[in-house]
Amino acid sequence: MIDLRSDTVTRPSAAMLEVMMAAETGDDVYRDDPTVNALEAEAARLSGKAAALFFPTGTQANLVALLCHCQRGDEYIVGQQAHNYKYEAGGAAVLGSIQPQPVLQAADGSLPLADVAAAIKPDDIHFARTRLLSLENTHHGHVLPLPYLAQAWHFTRERQLALHIDGARIFNAVVALETTLADIARYCDSLTICLSKGLGTPVGSLLCGEVAYIEQARRWRKMTGGGMRQAGILAAAGLYALQHNVARLKADHDNAAWLATQLSALGVDVVSQQTNMVFVKVPAAQVAALQSWMQAREVQISVGPQTRLVTHLDVSRQDLEQLVAYWRAFLQQ
Ligand SMILES: *Cc1c(COP(=O)(O)O)cnc(C)c1O
Repeated sequence: MIDLRSDTVTRPSAAMLEVMMAAETGDDVYRDDPTVNALEAEAARLSGKAAALFFPTGTQANLVALLCHCQRGDEYIVGQQAHNYKYEAGGAAVLGSIQPQPVLQAADGSLPLADVAAAIKPDDIHFARTRLLSLENTHHGHVLPLPYLAQAWHFTRERQLALHIDGARIFNAVVALETTLADIARYCDSLTICLSKGLGTPVGSLLCGEVAYIEQARRWRKMTGGGMRQAGILAAAGLYALQHNVARLKADHDNAAWLATQLSALGVDVVSQQTNMVFVKVPAAQVAALQSWMQAREVQISVGPQTRLVTHLDVSRQDLEQLVAYWRAFLQQ
């Protein structure tokens, strides 16, 4: 089975399962799980933030991040296609009474700061209070450039907004820019990271920020049902991933670039490729046929008019060669 639907489909390797089996555990709600504590300390160290908190999912980490920045009746400015606007079931509005103010993303995944400025509400009783700018890095595979992040950081300081980065795939940006996590995270107040995507753990996300912020987050995490007990077995996978699965993301990026070139050569309309994602246009008349063609050959892809192909540690170059051969055969029928 070749699965290019998402990098969330990665499975824990034998070596990762071994460290999970051997993990020292305690009750993390009492803050006694040494492996969770070690993972949080490592995330804080890598991000250059004072503290970090382990979560079961990125959705919950993003929700808690928003609940800490915004009170009832506040708003956050966020991308129209951002995960924490569009794909988190409206959690900030439902559970936090926080109003989202979406802004169209530019093609490179950034939110143009002039558009953000125009969306900020004046201090007037008619309006929600604008409190936060939320960016996504990477977005659809696109890495936000460091100069843009620096501008956004200075802009938010001037406008007295907080800046959150949904960095579900931040390590793809770190590897693509050949920089460090801290060099990106210096431009935000809070950062979420997914361990369960390209980094290959079965479960887990992190929220990084200042000490008082993370203490507040700990309360919200408990309230939203994210206080786990012997979570060290999961944190062990996270520590393993941070040690062994970051540098190898380069192989996923190279594979995605290779795949984009090969599909282009077949005449497939490649819309974009950055980091581990390739987006291709599939003519409406081919969508259903391509889906079943691939399914019959044990290839999982979500075919649509705009099809996303995601490379990850469970997809080899050989798998991609196979996929390209299947695609060629499909087009030649
Ligand atoms: C996957 C993802 C999340 C979190 O997803 P979970 O499945 O809840 O861990 C958040 N933001 C982005 C951009 C993502 O891709």
